[in-house]
Amino acid sequence: MDKVIGIDLGTTNSCVAIYEGGVTQVIPNSEGSRTTPSIVAFTPDGQRLVGNIAKRQAVANPSSTVFATKRMIGRKLKTPEVQRMQMTAPYKIAAADNGDASVVVHGRRYTPQEIGAFVLRQLKEAAQEYLEQTVKDAVITVPAYFDDSQRQATRDAGRLAGLNVLRIINEPTAAALAYGIGADSSGTIAVYDLGGGTFDISVLEFSQGVFQVKATHGDTFLGGEDVDARLMDVLLDSFMQETGIDLHADPVALQRLKDAAERAKIELSSVDETEISLPFLTADANGPKHLRRILTRTELEQLCEDLIAATIDHCRDAMSAAGVQPTQITDVLLVGGMTKMPAVQRAVQHFFNRAPNRTVNPDEAVAVGAAIQGAILAGDVSEVVLLDVVPLSLGIETSGGLLTKLIPRNATVPCSITEVFTTSEDYQPLVNVHVLQGERPLAADNTSLARFELVGIPPALRGVPKIELTFSIDANGILSVSARDLGTKREQLVRVRATSGLTEGAIERILSEAEQFQDADRINVELADIRRRIQGLIYTTERSLGESANYLTEGELDQIRADLENARRSADTADLNRIQATLRDLEKSAFRITEVMYKDFS
Ligand code: ADP
Ligand code: MG
Repeated sequence: MDKVIGIDLGTTNSCVAIYEGGVTQVIPNSEGSRTTPSIVAFTPDGQRLVGNIAKRQAVANPSSTVFATKRMIGRKLKTPEVQRMQMTAPYKIAAADNGDASVVVHGRRYTPQEIGAFVLRQLKEAAQEYLEQTVKDAVITVPAYFDDSQRQATRDAGRLAGLNVLRIINEPTAAALAYGIGADSSGTIAVYDLGGGTFDISVLEFSQGVFQVKATHGDTFLGGEDVDARLMDVLLDSFMQETGIDLHADPVALQRLKDAAERAKIELSSVDETEISLPFLTADANGPKHLRRILTRTELEQLCEDLIAATIDHCRDAMSAAGVQPTQITDVLLVGGMTKMPAVQRAVQHFFNRAPNRTVNPDEAVAVGAAIQGAILAGDVSEVVLLDVVPLSLGIETSGGLLTKLIPRNATVPCSITEVFTTSEDYQPLVNVHVLQGERPLAADNTSLARFELVGIPPALRGVPKIELTFSIDANGILSVSARDLGTKREQLVRVRATSGLTEGAIERILSEAEQFQDADRINVELADIRRRIQGLIYTTERSLGESANYLTEGELDQIRADLENARRSADTADLNRIQATLRDLEKSAFRITEVMYKDFS
């Protein structure tokens, strides 16, 4: 098999790695850096810039420099997260025809998949140059909370970049692999991932190579860039005080300040003091103005104390959602460039009361894990099996508006489940398959993933046709649903593309709602259940009434017809007691008919 590269397609930076001769190597890009900014810029003369070169001109060319599109991938424009981006992003965000979020530059629309593909192509080319051979196969990582459509969209980005995406795996799981966890042991780990723009904390349980995400929390708008922004504000203020010049309207100066702020932040992770020096930053009537300032690590730590504290609050939430105590955690892994900051490491160590594992470079760990997964798939590494689980249950809507689960949450992927269903009405020519994801018993309270029809069912009484439904989830967590009429052998298949994305933390919210609405849901389920029973009884009573009408008295017939009518009316209400009462009456009528039918045989 060919070489399989592992790619961390990050919000801020991306990274590519390869497993070769027993070791993983991070592949440097053409400029020699081991990570590549996930930034794509379009110049006025029609050039496309990707990576460092795009980053360097970002502030000076704001409306044509596209970054952080990972927050939008596989999502609708109307999701709150995209709305928030739309308000703050310097480039234009609009809806595509299907409502998906996309960006518009120089009048041309680009989907987040295409932007992702430009970055992926850059990494692919770097890998080809490094390996001196063409590269096709890749493993790409996504956040643990990504839903089906976000995973699917990431896979599409890979395909657009000319890659054959062998597998999509969770970032924290990849990190765990990079740290060498999971092969033959078991335990619970916390993966603390603080990147440029997002923070994720995941609690994973693993045993015999199977990783299960117990909880994932975080903030998709919290990361290193917030620290840079605060530092920039300090620099702008002090420059203003010294010179009286406000640099907010000077894009070139702002770009230099932003770069300097990030550089200072990074330097202060290894030294206690750094000098920010920006000669000829601007000029006034008295000549050129320079910026020069000493910044200490202590100052920087004070500036971002609350941001670090916020990540720890998320850790606390994730631990309680996972139902584990900090002492039960067997390892804490640091992921993301920002975890190189000593203050971050201290806060994590203090909260978990143990020293975090720092044996792998945190901004490379995810790509390294993806490369290991690639090597496993290529057959170069055999010890580790790596599996993930389904975060939320999957099923279909069945009669009475209920969700019937086919694949329960936490099932290990890949998996496939088949069940046989039937029709609910006589001569029903088609079945509507409504695919849902969630934990609530009523279909309407869950996320709708897809709808399709299986047509051409031959005329039959209800309950007679046999429709076989198969739900399969592949190793990437992508769902396919097929329906087959066992009579006609007619079949319909959909690869599910979710109609809308789950926001981060949505899984947690869905689970807690399922708990919160337990009582209300129980009543609704009872209602759906009794409605189904009364409709079934109306159906059989009408049929047997036709056959035994001759044996019943006029008075009995009137009573049965009245009971049928009452039953029909009550079935449309939400009045449980009333339906129960009319059901009892109709049962009496049904018994009367049965008595009459069998009276000659007694
Ligand atoms: P993402 O996962 O969001 O794509 P990364 O994991 O690459 O991003 O993290 C990028 C962030 O890490 C940036 O804000 C960058 O400035 C910061 N960073 C990188 N190296 C260091 C360092 N040595 N000290 C502090 N911050 C760092
Ligand atoms: Mg990352």
